[in-house]
Amino acid sequence: MGGKPTTTNRRQFLKATATAIVSLTVVGSAAYYLRDKSSVQKTGILRPPGSVDEEDFLYACIKCGLCVQICPVHAIKLADWDAFLSYGTPYIDANVQACDFSCDAIQCAETCPTGAIDFQIFRRAGDRAYEQLLKQYGGQIPPDVNPFEIQIMAMRRVANMGKAVITDPQQCLAYHGKGYSGPLGKHHALLRPPGSKERIDIAEVHVEREICDLCVAYCPLGSEAIELKEIGNGKYLPEIKDGCVGCGVCQMLCPTDPKAIVVEPREKLA
Ligand code: SF4
Ligand code: SF4
Ligand code: SF4
Repeated sequence: MGGKPTTTNRRQFLKATATAIVSLTVVGSAAYYLRDKSSVQKTGILRPPGSVDEEDFLYACIKCGLCVQICPVHAIKLADWDAFLSYGTPYIDANVQACDFSCDAIQCAETCPTGAIDFQIFRRAGDRAYEQLLKQYGGQIPPDVNPFEIQIMAMRRVANMGKAVITDPQQCLAYHGKGYSGPLGKHHALLRPPGSKERIDIAEVHVEREICDLCVAYCPLGSEAIELKEIGNGKYLPEIKDGCVGCGVCQMLCPTDPKAIVVEPREKLA
């Protein structure tokens, strides 16, 4: 039967509505919290090279975006609401665009006004390398030795963004003794190959490899970070070494889906 709702009915209705609102708020907040805080160890989601420890980073970073602007390969982005990171903080998604160090002097660190990305570790590494060279050559560095290149390599070595890992050997083409023929990258992204002065668009470059070794061939740290090891019967597997700094170039270039090699961030990001 219809008619005007009684006071009791109205009270029950209001109580049910209030309970529903509270429940939805609690569930929504929990889901947001879990999304933001528990899915933080995403492979390939990295802080810029030289970032201080995550807790200090969150205090120090003022989200000014200068590191984003200076990066010549546009590797750094500012986190959006759905990026699993604190809103507005800078990160690198190695699946999209890795840090290839082609800016040479770690420009994101140099430009950071607060020290959230700590340029001092790079400066010290570069200075140490130069002093070692002077010592090695008795104070006179010969003209055929380029101190700048040696300093740059020393700076890369302290970037400490994470560590590459093989997700599943079965996923790797080399593990099956297979080659690769096709574009260096499946999407447009920039890379300066080792030993080259020019950046290339990885989608525009065709590569042919008898045995796939893209992760090894283009690593900015070279054989101190990764090598292709023969495991018998014409099969190979990349071996990640202590010199890997987690730049993500290997992850960006690995042609398999899902990726056979990914970078795990050096610590949980928030
Ligand atoms: S060090 Fe890497 S992320 Fe930083 S500016 Fe250079 S290329 Fe970009
Ligand atoms: S193996 Fe090389 S390319 Fe891959 S993350 Fe380590 S340093 Fe970068
Ligand atoms: S690029 Fe990928 S598929 Fe190729 S060797 Fe490296 S891990 Fe294996």
